[in-house]
Amino acid sequence: MPELPEVEIASRQLRGWLQGRRIVSARAERSRVIRGQTQARFAGLAGHRLTGIERFGKWMLLSFDGGEGLLSHLGMTGKWIRRRADEPRPSHVRASLALNDGHAVDYRDMRLFGRLIRGKTQQLRALPALRALGPDPLGGIDVERLHGMLARTRRSMKEALMDQRTLAGLGNIQVSESLYRARIDPQRPALSLTRAETERLASAIGDSLRATLDDEDSPEPITYVEEGGENVFLVYDRAGEPCGNCGTAIRRIVQGGRSTYYCPHCQPRWRARATSRTGPVRAPARASVALQKAARRSPARRLRVIQGGRASQPMR
Ligand SMILES: [Zn+2]
Repeated sequence: MPELPEVEIASRQLRGWLQGRRIVSARAERSRVIRGQTQARFAGLAGHRLTGIERFGKWMLLSFDGGEGLLSHLGMTGKWIRRRADEPRPSHVRASLALNDGHAVDYRDMRLFGRLIRGKTQQLRALPALRALGPDPLGGIDVERLHGMLARTRRSMKEALMDQRTLAGLGNIQVSESLYRARIDPQRPALSLTRAETERLASAIGDSLRATLDDEDSPEPITYVEEGGENVFLVYDRAGEPCGNCGTAIRRIVQGGRSTYYCPHCQPRWRARATSRTGPVRAPARASVALQKAARRSPARRLRVIQGGRASQPMR
């Protein structure tokens, strides 16, 4: 499934394919991908040239001359591919851009969870989907801000990191990989994370994103793991396989309706301790009260509380 690294690679490929070319014609099928928009609106891209591509988490904003724009989210199975314009269109193509260099660039999406939104670049930039996003972690993570965000939620680490307001672009894969690299229990309440652990997590997220980028970057379209592509990940989709670090079998659990993969030995179950021998835990007063409450609840009850009270989130 496409997350930040896959979208970053897609944006590099699109830049290479579109830069310096003019769009001869643009066509979108009537599908959920362009929901709420007319096909004519998409066709209005004809005659324009790309001026730049920006990535915000899992979103790409393509800017064209004349202030025209196209916002793209790959959903679960979306990808941009290129072919010679005289070759037949592959299956599941939802939109196509024919270029003046004899190529066509297609948006292919089997399961239709992706989005293509046409509009003026300035309007697209102001959409809630983009405005609600947290910072993009690829250029570096503000540890202070991340620690502050995590300290405000009783949700699990997994769910707090899946929330695109925390950091933009992390999904099921990168969250599992980052927590494994940082040796943090994915079920632990986010507000229990210390400043030092947050620092460890931030560098683990950076390492995980860069490792995936290195492994997947190629001129060929990526075959996602779910489609039978090579699994380049340490724990993702490896339930039952030995941990590369200690040999313990990787475990799969479901959190917030999504799979989490982790090593029960390297990421031991976190238990709340309200006080230590040297005195109260050095945490903000509100956080420590919440921690004590969380500790008194049974695990099942705690999970429900963490999952409940979930505010509306930007698309992930
Ligand atoms: Zn292990």
